[in-house]
Amino acid sequence: MESIYNKTMSELEDYFLAKQDKKFRAVQVFEWLYQKKVTTFEEMSNLKKEVIARLEADFSISSISIKKIERDQDVSKYLFSLQDGEKIEAVLMNHHYGNSLCISTQVGCNMGCKFCESGRLKKVRNLETAEMVEQILKVEQEEQVRISHVVVMGIGEPFDNYDNLVKFIEIINHPKGLALGSRHITVSTCGIIPKIKEFSNLPYQVNLAISLHAPNNEIRNSIMPINKVYTINELMLVLKDYVKKTNRRVTFEYILLKGINDRETDALELANLVKDLTCYVNLIPYNETNNLSFKRSDYESITKFYDILKKNKINATIRKEFGSNISAACGQLRSKKED
Ligand code: SAH
Repeated sequence: MESIYNKTMSELEDYFLAKQDKKFRAVQVFEWLYQKKVTTFEEMSNLKKEVIARLEADFSISSISIKKIERDQDVSKYLFSLQDGEKIEAVLMNHHYGNSLCISTQVGCNMGCKFCESGRLKKVRNLETAEMVEQILKVEQEEQVRISHVVVMGIGEPFDNYDNLVKFIEIINHPKGLALGSRHITVSTCGIIPKIKEFSNLPYQVNLAISLHAPNNEIRNSIMPINKVYTINELMLVLKDYVKKTNRRVTFEYILLKGINDRETDALELANLVKDLTCYVNLIPYNETNNLSFKRSDYESITKFYDILKKNKINATIRKEFGSNISAACGQLRSKKED
């Protein structure tokens, strides 16, 4: 049965109209689900009995459950079971500015980035919109907190599950939904160009992050197979267009991998590549994993890389590390076999 959390406001309106009911029932249902956060249809006390019975017949209200929580200082990693038994993860980070949740969009991932642990499991399937929405709701319920920021950087390539992703954004951004400001939502992609184009036409001011990780095609081809389909040059062109259309800056994520993309010449080449774009570079110390041979750059290389970008007037930061003790760091989700 379909989960009610799959439905956007306009889809719910259509549903009620098709049942010869009033459009505003959709608003009522949204308020129950996302503001009062009830977990049964029965609790929707301003709806008539028949309406509740029909909702119960047509929709389920929960499709994922918490299987395990691992906690570290400012981070908690959630393992969820899906209805078909598949597992996904989300990571809660407590920042000084609020609670940020990193959510997954697929079971596994097909992008095949060589350094990424979570992608070693090939894509099994896309997540439904509801399964993304519920990652937020379940964590909020468990922790009794409000999630103020969402980063779509967990397992999966969000732009390989585009339609469900867009519905997810619509629901969490909707004022009667979770009412998360679009500037508090960040979507990260390895660079699927046709979807970046579509994304720039959306009416939302959602942040876009690009996993770049290399200053040229040669290095990028060697670590990210997607670059053989959509090259850096094409990526830069489409991002220029994105900035022009949306007036938003782009974030580049750049993992520093020892001996692969962390030389001074790489920093210079990167500065040159992005200098004409309104952007910001997030340098990420690599999280080493047991199964892959990539090594983290040493501290000096990281700071030298950063200094070169700064000297060349590129906005850059070195990312604060979260969750490496509990394998909740970027790229490490679902790496340990559970069960
Ligand atoms: N598929 C999307 C989102 C998921 S990956 C994307 O490619 O952007 C989220 C981020 O974690 C990406 O930038 C990814 O390259 C990075 N990442 C993967 N493995 C990592 C590791 N071991 N250490 C640090 N970052 C990693």
